[in-house]
Amino acid sequence: MGRRARLSGTGPRAQPSTSPCTAPGCTGPVRTCVGCRERDQRSALLRLVLEPSGREGLLAVDVRGCLPGRGAWIHPTSACLALAERRRAVPRALRVTGPLDLSGVRDHLEQSDR
Ligand SMILES: [Zn+2]
Repeated sequence: MGRRARLSGTGPRAQPSTSPCTAPGCTGPVRTCVGCRERDQRSALLRLVLEPSGREGLLAVDVRGCLPGRGAWIHPTSACLALAERRRAVPRALRVTGPLDLSGVRDHLEQSDR
């Protein structure tokens, strides 16, 4: 059968890989930074999720903002990360008890800072 169902045929294909996901729950105009509590475009924020492997206390940086599960949004700055860390906002946002290892996030920020 040569059926060509192009569901996405109406949209422009010029979009770079920054926003490939249109899944429900993955789109939203603004999110609140867990660090400074300011609202911003989700494209300006970094999404943090629990490590998909399920390892306790490990965080993953959801670069594309599309990983399943509960996410915490934060500005990609060390200042907001420090704020979030100080008030334990990330584990609260992710509904986990116990400390979370934010070192992976910090590494990510340091890499993208330069
Ligand atoms: Zn912030």
